[in-house]
Amino acid sequence: MTNLSKTATISNWIGGRWTESSASSTEPVYNPATEEILVNVPLSSKEDVDAAVQAAKEAFRSWSRTPVPRRARVLFKYQQLLVEHWEELARLITQENGKSYAEAYGEVQRGIECVEFAAGAPTLMMGRQLPDIATNLESGMYRYPVGIVCGITPFNFPMMVPCWMFPLAIACGNAFVLKPSERTPLLANRLAQLFAEAGLPGGVLNIVHGGHDVVNGLLEHRDIQAVSFVGSRPVAEYVYRTGSAFGKRVQALAGAKNHSIVMPDADLDAAVQQIVGAAFGSAGERCMACAVVVAVGDIGDRLVAKLKEAADAITIGNGLDEGVFLGPVIRGPHKERTLRYIEIGEKEGALLVRDGRKDAAANEKGYFVGPTIFDGVNSGMKIWEDEIFAPVLSIVRADTLEEAIELANRSEFANGACLFTRDGGNVRQFRETIDAGMLGINIGVPAPMAFFPFSGWKNSFYGDLHANGADGVEFYTRKKMVTARW
Ligand code: NAD
Repeated sequence: MTNLSKTATISNWIGGRWTESSASSTEPVYNPATEEILVNVPLSSKEDVDAAVQAAKEAFRSWSRTPVPRRARVLFKYQQLLVEHWEELARLITQENGKSYAEAYGEVQRGIECVEFAAGAPTLMMGRQLPDIATNLESGMYRYPVGIVCGITPFNFPMMVPCWMFPLAIACGNAFVLKPSERTPLLANRLAQLFAEAGLPGGVLNIVHGGHDVVNGLLEHRDIQAVSFVGSRPVAEYVYRTGSAFGKRVQALAGAKNHSIVMPDADLDAAVQQIVGAAFGSAGERCMACAVVVAVGDIGDRLVAKLKEAADAITIGNGLDEGVFLGPVIRGPHKERTLRYIEIGEKEGALLVRDGRKDAAANEKGYFVGPTIFDGVNSGMKIWEDEIFAPVLSIVRADTLEEAIELANRSEFANGACLFTRDGGNVRQFRETIDAGMLGINIGVPAPMAFFPFSGWKNSFYGDLHANGADGVEFYTRKKMVTARW
């Protein structure tokens, strides 16, 4: 047993100051590659939530009335600081999340892009006017912040996902309370510190660490107007229902089971490279990960052989080490759950083409699972149905594109879907008939950039307005209509 008393407990960030949580319990934050305890995270109480909301309320009064170009200037400065600290932030992500340094570096870029989008607030906040709605009568729409917004985020993108939320909300004039994942809380604290250095007034961004008590405290709090959530499907549904019942706007981005369809005319080598990156990159812990490949027509055997060859060549290890592609999954219980799914797949009769359990056994420390590939999967199997969220790829065979799309559309999830083909007719058929909100053509991870909505469908999303882009601006603002006769 590790002596927890020797490990520091991190603080909440409230009103522009590090504030000790009133929590009576803490949880260790592990480096998943080494199992070393980095820090402890407090499981904060509803009183801590209330303190953060009070600080946000206080700050909102002046921040919401700060001219938009002045708010935007703080975001420009923040962008500069994030660029200056790029490598430090990437290293921190790898330490607490386990993904490779290259992936973490890319994640920092995605976060910075959100800040760049938000810095366009003067344009994004513009209203609309019509000078003559009737004789001598004019009408105009003005946009305002909604008030106090909270964000609840998952472990898999400690920088990018919080950056989908607080930079834009704050640029729009709101004050924000963030509850990061208790499994990856360190990056969030650094983000808050750098924002303060950029000139953000105390209380505009607050961080309360913890688990479900903090989430419930936020959902029930009468002074919070809007909730942005990203995480697993059951929690997203809970947050959506509870937040709505308490009269708040909620956007809840949820789980996924993304399909990639490979047509016989596809550039096979390019498709394999994209699929391997999408299935095993970030240890499969991406909401846009490729979880199922549908091989159409006679391409199946060649595709499976090439996928296995590419998976065999993957370097597994600590993401901070040179050349490592596949890091650990987030925690021991998640590794055990993944190994159970591999057993389930075998029992269901799928063909285990590559078994990642042997790679897991090779590492004494760290929560490693090697790339795992099942062939002969069908939609009656649990390994097809459930989000495993690990480096486990299922392959289904289909005779036609229509059959492949029909299979993908059976999933309860509909975040992303990809098609590999050279045929424009296939692309059109796919675009028009697939049930998914983010499509890729000859690319593996079609995650939209910050100026477009992150557009999951079905049980991958609860709400109306998505994160990012014009949807994000709508979500974080409310409108006044003025009709005037002079
Ligand atoms: P999670 O649902 O376990 O946790 C997300 C957040 O909810 C965390 O802050 C956590 O503390 C909180 N939470 C967990 N259980 C709770 C409960 N019972 N009551 C109240 N709050 C609770 O998700 P995770 O494991 O951190 O992240 C992985 C999941 O997130 C995957 O399902 C993945 O697909 C999804 N995800 C989706 C998107 C998207 O854009 N759709 C993006 C990233 C991740």
